[in-house]
Amino acid sequence: MIYLDFAASTPLLPSVKKELFRAFEEEYSNPSSAHKLGRSSAEKIEKVRETIANSIGAYKNEIIFTSGASEANNLAIKGYVLANKKKGKHIITSSIEHKCILAICHFLEKEHGYEITYISPQKNGIINSQDVIQAMRDDTVLVSIMHVNNELGSIQPIKAIGKACFEKNIKFHVDAAQSYKKIAIDVDELNIDMLSISAHKIYGPKGIGAIYIRDLRETRIQPIIHGAGQEYGLRGGTLPTPLILGFGAAVEDQTIEHTFTEVNRINSLLRTKVIEIGGVINSPDIKYIPHILNIRLANFDATHFVANSDFLCSQGSACSSMNIEMSYVLREIGLSFEDAQSSIRLSLNQLNMNILNLFE
Ligand SMILES: *Cc1c(COP(=O)(O)O)cnc(C)c1O
Repeated sequence: MIYLDFAASTPLLPSVKKELFRAFEEEYSNPSSAHKLGRSSAEKIEKVRETIANSIGAYKNEIIFTSGASEANNLAIKGYVLANKKKGKHIITSSIEHKCILAICHFLEKEHGYEITYISPQKNGIINSQDVIQAMRDDTVLVSIMHVNNELGSIQPIKAIGKACFEKNIKFHVDAAQSYKKIAIDVDELNIDMLSISAHKIYGPKGIGAIYIRDLRETRIQPIIHGAGQEYGLRGGTLPTPLILGFGAAVEDQTIEHTFTEVNRINSLLRTKVIEIGGVINSPDIKYIPHILNIRLANFDATHFVANSDFLCSQGSACSSMNIEMSYVLREIGLSFEDAQSSIRLSLNQLNMNILNLFE
């Protein structure tokens, strides 16, 4: 079998595996405990917090650990807007965000009377920053735009949107689950106020992620998980020491950064091959990360392929209650139902040279 689904989740790096096994064995005490072992774990956790902060140009006390990017997105969006209702009830996001963002927005619309503007992308899957800027109003409290789209690999114009948010004093949240460690992120340079990341997208363990919140102490945030005061009172629950230390090992490991060029080469070869056999590239041909390639092939049953092939990949669509639903992302870039049914998302890493056999 050949794994081509790295955008869905990644295996553990050897360095991560080693640290996880060690920590599960040795770091079993509660990191909030006052004794030596607890304090030693807590110190290591604080080091990871610092590593993550340094990797995005933030301060260590602006990082909160969560169970992953979904929870980070919940804390950022619900946590911020519900604590700042007086500032307005308008949110701007895009129509091709990860499902959890759309679900949060639908919840806020339905249960809390928020008005949400969903910006559609251009045909290539890239959002026009002007569209976002034009949607900004006096009562806009938050803009949430993903850095890299998980189905297409398109890179969104975060810097231009961040600048406009800064000028208009609107909070800016970015879901960076797909971009973190693939594209350099500096939260100051990009004017990002909140940033979500997840360990299992960067060869770390599942069940751990983080949210960066600018000026955490001065920012009103409502907790989503109330608890015993952990994480500045914003996210209750005993910190999962091994997962956090495994996350830290993944952040420190430079494999993703060092293999970018190789992945780019595989992506280029694949694009050429797909076009040679009469296929179409759904991903954009500018502003994309090479790790994600969405393609469409003639007379191709993607559902059947994904379910049965030894090439493990995803269809740009979701199954809900046994009905095959068309991917809303592919629909938003203008594909017909039939086109979407013959599209697959290949997500790559540096070890995927044998993917070219796919076309033999
Ligand atoms: C995977 C992913 C998520 C969800 O992350 P979890 O850590 O699994 O909760 C959110 N947003 C994007 C863009 C993703 O790719």
